[in-house]
Amino acid sequence: MKLDTHAIRYLTAEDWRVLTAVEMGSKNHEVVPTPLISQISGLRGASGVNRSISNLAKVGLIAKVKNAKYDGYRLTYGGLDYLALNAFIKRKSIYSIGNQVGVGKESDIYVVADESGKQRILKIHRLGRISFRTVKANRDYLRNRNAASWMYMSRLAAMKEFAFMKVLKDSGFPVPTPIDQARHCVLMELIDSYPLRQVTSIADPPKLYADLMGLILRFASEGLIHGDFNEFNILVHEETQEPVVIDFPQMVSIDHPNAEEYFDRDVQCIKTFFERKFGFVSDEEGPSWQDVKRSGKLDIQVEASGFSKKQAKELDKYLQQIAKLDGPAEGEEADDSEVASAGDEDKEREQGDAEDKPDSAISEGHEANEK
Ligand code: ADP
Ligand code: MG
Repeated sequence: MKLDTHAIRYLTAEDWRVLTAVEMGSKNHEVVPTPLISQISGLRGASGVNRSISNLAKVGLIAKVKNAKYDGYRLTYGGLDYLALNAFIKRKSIYSIGNQVGVGKESDIYVVADESGKQRILKIHRLGRISFRTVKANRDYLRNRNAASWMYMSRLAAMKEFAFMKVLKDSGFPVPTPIDQARHCVLMELIDSYPLRQVTSIADPPKLYADLMGLILRFASEGLIHGDFNEFNILVHEETQEPVVIDFPQMVSIDHPNAEEYFDRDVQCIKTFFERKFGFVSDEEGPSWQDVKRSGKLDIQVEASGFSKKQAKELDKYLQQIAKLDGPAEGEEADDSEVASAGDEDKEREQGDAEDKPDSAISEGHEANEK
């Protein structure tokens, strides 16, 4: 999805307030009724609210929902993007937005800059996007769910990624410095390196291989498994050939029920890539799950840093469902038993929402108005 920011500086304080109201209303309403938008926004006089609604709809930040029993609107992904960007801009984390540098499976990556012109990476999480486009069963499954749940899950992914990056960076792991997080977005240091996949020549493949296996073991000794440790998520500096690891929403504790499987898969990804790309096969067998010796507790520490165990479970469950739904090719049947068992998730989500307040929409709305 493209990030179209041309309108961001033209929105009035009232527009921001109404946009925030639609976001808040979306938590409990698939289609937010106009009177509720008006009420949450706290603006007096219907004409101002209606003018803002029409402004926001024109630039695609909210969408009118037809065929509903009542007149209403929903927040679009574009609207959510604007709310996140506005939070970053107010906090002076971002001043300008540059080019898109990556389209991941479940994210969009942009180069942005702060006031001094220093470049940074903005990662916008977009969970469920691929699944929605693929198998028909997925489309039906996801369409029947509250659209806000993708937004909520994308936000959980961003919160998780930011929390993990913080503890990893603080523990001296080679990861980009996390700078800020708002809603479904993470702002981080730009690493001046290419993904291993794109690097044309590696001076010393055995050394890089050993470094990477060493990292997998070091993660594990701190209680963590990356879970997607592959040539796309390892950036390698062209000159120094130092690796930097990215992409953390799927990271798990070594106490996770599937920990061994994920650990082995990470190891195997690197083995396969080095053999295919460099014809390099290590003399050493390992590392294996038996080599893992826990000496740290980053998996526990991360829970204290703003991403709770409950949220971790919620996201994990969703990611696993998406992975399963992504499985069957077009035309094949999806596993309906799994789909059916997902029924209670929205209830949990609402309870979760009541608890988590780090990124309070309303306070951001008010701040926006003070500007
Ligand atoms: P996804 O979850 O969609 O795979 P990633 O976090 O792996 O997203 O990022 C996708 C791509 O964006 C990476 O392969 C890399 O090319 C680029 N990228 C991401 N983060 C950074 C960063 N901090 N510095 C430089 N490039 C980055
Ligand atoms: Mg990636």
